[in-house]
Amino acid sequence: PTLTPTLLYLDDITVSFDGFRALNSLSLSIDEAEMRAIIGPNGAGKTTMMDVITGKTRPNQGTALFAGTHDLTALDEAAIAQLGIGRKFQTPTVFEMHSVEDNILLSLKADRKSFPTLFSRRTPLEKERIDALLERIRLKDHRKRKASELSHGQKQWLEIGMLLAQEPRVLLVDEPAAGMTDQETADTADLLREIAKTRSVIVVEHDMVFVKDLGVKVTCLHEGSVLAEGSLDQVSADERVIEVYLGR
Ligand code: ADP
Repeated sequence: PTLTPTLLYLDDITVSFDGFRALNSLSLSIDEAEMRAIIGPNGAGKTTMMDVITGKTRPNQGTALFAGTHDLTALDEAAIAQLGIGRKFQTPTVFEMHSVEDNILLSLKADRKSFPTLFSRRTPLEKERIDALLERIRLKDHRKRKASELSHGQKQWLEIGMLLAQEPRVLLVDEPAAGMTDQETADTADLLREIAKTRSVIVVEHDMVFVKDLGVKVTCLHEGSVLAEGSLDQVSADERVIEVYLGR
């Protein structure tokens, strides 16, 4: 239990690669059940920030606290995932040869001690959770189809469903709408907004139309630190932000 609504607190985080600072005294905090969009030009440090949060990269300096108590800089990736930090990369990694619902079932069972298997019986609770997740990710009518038959957008949603099955407290997503049709993009924004009612979501995104559609607070990174923060309108009117985007 934490006294503040802050779920993720980064302070003065520096990551150096051979003396080059991919993150340079980065400070940022995300509240419980907040969705935040992270923007910034290529090389700004967005990926490195996600790597620090998930334990893939250890910072040279700084504080990274989760839920007020867990020091992320002292934990490995598996321990951090166990805390409830889920990450979705751009390319969906679903089990292509399994059905949509079996993909969800495998994720539900994956947090158990035993090796997950499709041959064990589904409990009524699992059935209920699968139904709710399929409804949420808009794949209820496709539950029996092989994942390989889904569209690119549907595969992205399936992977989000698989992550949600693990009940993360924060979901990190990298360009979730890349390669999607306009309709899928709009549906993805809706889906993320629904998720953010109960969990925190951090979205790294290049597509400003999509960021506008999300309608959330935006943080613009540049050269490894926060350049500007606020609504998309505020951030995109900021002269320093205009300069770093136009300067490329
Ligand atoms: P973004 O995701 O915003 O495009 P990154 O976090 O990928 O930015 O990269 C930030 C900077 O750090 C870039 O200049 C990149 O070249 C550098 N960088 C990232 N990872 C490494 C690494 N493993 N070794 C050396 N430099 C790296």
